[in-house]
Amino acid sequence: MGNIFYLDMETREEAYEKQKKELVRLDRIKRRCECGGHFKDRVNKNTGEKFFGCNRYPKCKKTKSKL
Ligand SMILES: [Zn+2]
Repeated sequence: MGNIFYLDMETREEAYEKQKKELVRLDRIKRRCECGGHFKDRVNKNTGEKFFGCNRYPKCKKTKSKL
């Protein structure tokens, strides 16, 4: 019984790790910019609004309000 429980814990941990990696992967895809850069969290200094801007700004002026 003890062993089965242990194995179960291990697979749960593995599943959790996989899920975490998948989230990171999806986040990277969402943040990818067409220019090869990636979107960073930025704040509009005039309005205080949060948005995402390409890290290659000012070369690339792409922005997103949501990822
Ligand atoms: Zn860009």
